[in-house]
Amino acid sequence: MKRLSILGSTGSIGRNALEVISSHADKFKIVALAARNNVQLLEAQIRAFKPEVAAVFDESAAESLRGKNLNVDILAGEKGIIEAATLAKADMVVSAIAGSSGLVPTHEAVKAGKDIALATKEALVMAGDIIMSEASKRGVKILPVDSEHSAVFQCLDGRDMNEVLKIVLTASGGPFRKKDISGLDAVTPDEALKHPTWEMGKKITIDSATLMNKGLEVIEACRLFNVPPEKVDVILHPQSIIHSMVKFIDGSVLAQMSVPDMKGPIGYALSYPRRFENVLPLLNLAEAGELTFEEPDVRRYPSLSLAYDAIRAGGTMPCVLSAANETAVEAFLDRKISFTAIPRVVSRTMEEHRVRQADTIEDVINASHWAEAKAAEIVEELRRGGF
Ligand code: MG
Repeated sequence: MKRLSILGSTGSIGRNALEVISSHADKFKIVALAARNNVQLLEAQIRAFKPEVAAVFDESAAESLRGKNLNVDILAGEKGIIEAATLAKADMVVSAIAGSSGLVPTHEAVKAGKDIALATKEALVMAGDIIMSEASKRGVKILPVDSEHSAVFQCLDGRDMNEVLKIVLTASGGPFRKKDISGLDAVTPDEALKHPTWEMGKKITIDSATLMNKGLEVIEACRLFNVPPEKVDVILHPQSIIHSMVKFIDGSVLAQMSVPDMKGPIGYALSYPRRFENVLPLLNLAEAGELTFEEPDVRRYPSLSLAYDAIRAGGTMPCVLSAANETAVEAFLDRKISFTAIPRVVSRTMEEHRVRQADTIEDVINASHWAEAKAAEIVEELRRGGF
């Protein structure tokens, strides 16, 4: 019986994880659930899964849960989330808090020796060296929940990395793959939130439309599999059937396929090194029909190049990329800036950043705060028509 703490239980990954767990209830015990502020759903999850601890980021939301007689310890704030992440009874932490708020709880969970099913890619983008070296020091397994990295992980299957020529991440290309580039400036948040193949949270859906999501995933792949950015390629594959590939030195290429459903990678991270039965409906290739591929156009997707620039610059730059992007995406969703301004804000923030070493979590948090403030300044400048 694996004892799990789920961070971000009310989000898209968290809900899918609980579905997988419900169908394999004999193998898991949920010891902690943590969410930002969706108390209604969290309450239902507490009643269904009976954890010992539940944490809510929002203090007033926590207070409202305490009045419900749920027979569970309700914790609040980042401190509460960290307590849920480091609970002595948990064997594994599902890290699925969206964005940079997942960084510190994930790092604390690794420090506490918990294996991690990792969906919060920002944690590895911002502090990859710190988290990976901490994990290897403590013998902590980091199992990717991101579908691409799960695919690569399954294709590699413990092989010698010297035999790997390239990791090829697939990207759907988002809703604007075919749209006239000159029309991108006018797209609305609602249009950008319509992802063609995957059901996901808001931030990652916008990141998929700009391809920043793929950029962050390139950095995530470099960290997880310890490869330089030159070894990670991106190819557009609109059907999202092949989740990623590995090219080997002998010319052989392995690909991992399934219907696009996050229960696949979640199930694999939870069942590893085994596989559960019936996690996904079986892929019917004849029904899928054509699988197509194309090079990403960097004029359409400038965010992808920014991510390569950031990982090459190293140190605090990937963290600045990620934090500036988070600020810019929020500004776009709030209709403060246009869709094409998102990469402009990120690029300007990066230009103004002096790269430093990212040796400690404090270095990373400082860089992240600097980038958020700088990006917010640039957003304001843009709104006033400054550039
Ligand atoms: Mg992904």
